[in-house]
Amino acid sequence: MKNIFIIILFSLACIVNAQDEKVTYIHCGTILDVEELKELEEYTIIVEGNKIKSVEKGFEKVPAGAEYIDLSEYTVMPGLMDAHVHLESESNPKKYLERFTLEDADVAFRAAEYAERTLMGGFTFVRDLGGSGVNISLRNAINSGWVDGPRILTAGKSIATTGGHADPTNGMKRRFSGDATPMNGVADGPYQAREAVRFRYKNGADVIKITATGGVLSVAKDGQGPQFKADELEAIITTANEYGMTTAAHAHGAEGMKRAVEAGITSIEHGTLMTEEVMDLMIEKGTYLVPTISAGKFVAEKAKIDGYFPELVVPKALEIGPKIQDTFGKAYNKGVKIAFGTDAGVSPHGENGKEFIYMVEGGMPAFEAIRAATLTTAQLFEVEDQVGMIKEGLLADIVAVKGNPLTDIEIMTDVSFVMKDGKIYKSE
Ligand SMILES: [Zn+2]
Repeated sequence: MKNIFIIILFSLACIVNAQDEKVTYIHCGTILDVEELKELEEYTIIVEGNKIKSVEKGFEKVPAGAEYIDLSEYTVMPGLMDAHVHLESESNPKKYLERFTLEDADVAFRAAEYAERTLMGGFTFVRDLGGSGVNISLRNAINSGWVDGPRILTAGKSIATTGGHADPTNGMKRRFSGDATPMNGVADGPYQAREAVRFRYKNGADVIKITATGGVLSVAKDGQGPQFKADELEAIITTANEYGMTTAAHAHGAEGMKRAVEAGITSIEHGTLMTEEVMDLMIEKGTYLVPTISAGKFVAEKAKIDGYFPELVVPKALEIGPKIQDTFGKAYNKGVKIAFGTDAGVSPHGENGKEFIYMVEGGMPAFEAIRAATLTTAQLFEVEDQVGMIKEGLLADIVAVKGNPLTDIEIMTDVSFVMKDGKIYKSE
């Protein structure tokens, strides 16, 4: 008797639960199948709760009580993913002063605005590769539903060597510089390197970001030399992996890139001066390249404006910026795995879609660029069993554009429909 009672209760709970889940029927003119690179004409996506319940051929009749979305004039694809953003900030001539003037709360409110812009651009999942730590709170706020934004994997504060790219005290008067410690993301030697990774784990980071070479926007002379020794890289990457985290390395010069790839880094960011030797090594190791052509173009353009960047930054921006697109084209042709990433925060938030135009200009077919921003980036994030395709059982992260992006890639900068986790955020 007791058992029957439990079964009845359980059945009732199931019915109540099923009735709670909102059902949405989406008629799609075309769905981009990013796995097979096929265009599927006239399909219906049935969304239940936050998941894709099924994908059916033809325009299914919408049952009573279900919500109906008409995208029969649109091209529908999985939510876009950007593997390299910085949601806490955006380039502007005053940026170098902001670290002295803005409180964390100021940074947080602004980051909320950037996160919303990113989502409205069609990007439902991003990786934040470095900020002050506000990016961790931002992820939590979005997950809690307090702020509208994309799903986020965050690195918290990235890890650099003393004086290296992303040492937060570079170029500062001693009195203001604070301490360059592993907790603050500065590590020298394998012991500090491990400590820096463990601090990030403790503080709630999802991924570890390091600066394996000099960088363009830091107030330091060198923009490309290696900045970590092999034993430091080994310590960071093995420790990160032990805590279940993947790793990403900012790298412009070939030597720093090579060391990071040899040590087992998950992705190389920018990859500017990548040699064929490094490309071969990346193919062998399965390392991803995240090109960030948008950032290269943006800094090269702004470096021509007097006073936009500090003097030390200008020659680096002019030299390194324009090379990224060429290297991307070579790496793609050679067969390096390419994930999608803009470095938005250097370039403006919400304009992430421009990267598609640059990738196509660089020699990648439009469909493959869209696959890079969906399935391939999902694989880099190790979440391809949850997002990255329009497929039964996956999370309902779905976007749509008017027209055919395969023949006109610029359409990707104008996303008309955004659904994340089954909820509609934009519908024109
Ligand atoms: Zn970056």
